[in-house]
Amino acid sequence: MAKKVLITGGAGFIGSHLAERLLNDGQTVIVIDDLSTGSAENIEHLLDKQSFEFHEETIFNRSIMKQLISDCDVVYHLAASVGVRYIIENPLKSLKTNVQGTEIILDLCSKYTRKTVLASTSEIYGKNEKQPLSEDDDRVLGSTHIYRWSYSCAKAMDEFLALAYFKEESLPIIIVRFFNICGPRQTGRYGMVVPRFVQSALKNEPITVYGDGRQVRSFTYIDDAIEALSLLEDNEQALGQVFNVGSRESVSISDLAQKVKDLSSSTSEIKIIPYEQAYDTGFEDMRFRVPDITKISNLTGYQPKIKMEQMLKFIINYHGRVEER
Ligand code: UDP
Repeated sequence: MAKKVLITGGAGFIGSHLAERLLNDGQTVIVIDDLSTGSAENIEHLLDKQSFEFHEETIFNRSIMKQLISDCDVVYHLAASVGVRYIIENPLKSLKTNVQGTEIILDLCSKYTRKTVLASTSEIYGKNEKQPLSEDDDRVLGSTHIYRWSYSCAKAMDEFLALAYFKEESLPIIIVRFFNICGPRQTGRYGMVVPRFVQSALKNEPITVYGDGRQVRSFTYIDDAIEALSLLEDNEQALGQVFNVGSRESVSISDLAQKVKDLSSSTSEIKIIPYEQAYDTGFEDMRFRVPDITKISNLTGYQPKIKMEQMLKFIINYHGRVEER
């Protein structure tokens, strides 16, 4: 049966890909986005579709949210301040959006008993160096003077709230922790490493690796992340649970820089930059961040399909085309 789906933050990187997928699946899609970090360009190509509607509005507008949520079947709550650089530069706005904004959404979703998929993050695990990280692992965080951790705490509060609504108010909620999702339309402006490296490589400008470059991440292609969302939303047993969404394939940031350079036939220099120069003093990074995806795989059969090299080729190709325009 065709559903009416509301995506908060639907003009963002993940939201716009989700909107596309849901429209292709025959659903009606309503997007609300204040275009603070998302962009109108991301959804330009969807605006003339009959089953698509866009509201340029903030999620703090409770009366609009009430109307949109009461009128839909499913809510994907993706509206959030994201990106390490963005969070460090805008800690107050980020906290307000990520805590107070989510409170409004969960309160209304609970009032109207709407199925809700809440986007969370691998930042939740903080500095825990366990490999791979599974959903029940500890959160290891630094001082409150380090703004980066405010994002981890805000998203953890979102998760606590969502789980409490599930327990006490029977809100049908699914929580998804994304691990470094990448793809076309992701901007490097807010700090994300893959678009930053690709854009530098294509311009033959220095590729800047922060720290010693030995920190490890696993990157997941957007189509695989969207598939995971779709599988979870469709599974009754996912309700009230938290799932890692990512890929097992991992890479050090130095190796990532070299791969991007090679795949884009770039002459860029790979430059190591201390964290204090890249971010404020007192910045902390995590050494390893690789997900255990056994839980989602066992429940839904999810397996990421796009290998890292292919992912980088797609992204290089995309940025190459954007720059030609
Ligand atoms: N990073 C980097 N150069 C950049 C941007 C990021 O070396 O221009 C590093 C960053 O310090 C981190 C990794 O790449 O170790 C991933 O950074 P990102 O902000 O994309 O994600 P997260 O730290 O949240 O995993």
